[in-house]
Amino acid sequence: MPILEVENLSISFNQYTSSFKQNNIQVISSLNVSLEEGEILAVVGASGSGKSLLAHAILGILPDNATISGTIYYNGEVLTASKQASLRGKEVAFIPQSTNYLDPLMRVGNQVRTSVKTGDATAAQRAVFKRLHLQPTVENMYPFQLSGGMARRTLLSTAIVSDAKVIIADEPTPGLDPVVMKEALNNFREFADNGCAVMLITHDIESALTIADKIAVFYAGTTVEVAPVEDFTGDGEALRHPYSKALWRALPQNDFIPIPGSQPHPSALPTGCLFAPRCKEAILECGKKQPEMRNLRNGMVRCIHAT
Ligand code: SF4
Repeated sequence: MPILEVENLSISFNQYTSSFKQNNIQVISSLNVSLEEGEILAVVGASGSGKSLLAHAILGILPDNATISGTIYYNGEVLTASKQASLRGKEVAFIPQSTNYLDPLMRVGNQVRTSVKTGDATAAQRAVFKRLHLQPTVENMYPFQLSGGMARRTLLSTAIVSDAKVIIADEPTPGLDPVVMKEALNNFREFADNGCAVMLITHDIESALTIADKIAVFYAGTTVEVAPVEDFTGDGEALRHPYSKALWRALPQNDFIPIPGSQPHPSALPTGCLFAPRCKEAILECGKKQPEMRNLRNGMVRCIHAT
């Protein structure tokens, strides 16, 4: 049984236009992912594809003007708002994209120590700082004294010492030098190998492929494919969705062919398949309704043609 399962998640936001009319914009529609213990699921896609909103929905930290439908399960039970509050920062650790999540008035060593549940908190904090190449003097600094890379490593340290069962990391590696980045990614692999479930949200598909077990590809607020990492090989012939194949081929070490067009804005989504305006395989039928997510070859896909 997955420790975390997201079923048909849709998120919309109420917004006021310049003429004070209320607008409801759907930014995520029918999104599905699941995460098992001992597994790393990498969620990849362009910015604006809904990756961070998924994390915020799971943690229950969406803004007040958000409306959600669909169901999120944690250990087989519906994840309610009170359950989210009790898990957040305890069983479920979050490594946010923004380093503004650090408390500006607390020394960073203390911030990391508050996440240690058992044993010597100071020793645990110092060990993790050493592991992530943070000098001993850093523990006495305040967030404003840290570089971007140091702040990111501090957030990562908080998750590492927390003993969480699930780690959701939202773009945890930008700004890290290659050595620390490799260390951070290895840490995620180690967590998973010790039974933790890791959701790694990233636009860096190459790094994700080095540690993940499966990859969920997001496009315009929905999941278009979930594939085992082994399927990202060759010309992408084992992949299921035209967008995943194009994303794979666009990598510099592959054909380096950019994908023509751009992801639609949530306020101007096409009817039918959201990828249809950019898809070489589109036919009339693709524009009629959004394809359902379906199981295919040990993965999942949202495309009527995928075989
Ligand atoms: S449903 Fe049609 S338009 Fe959409 S990805 Fe598949 S072939 Fe392309």
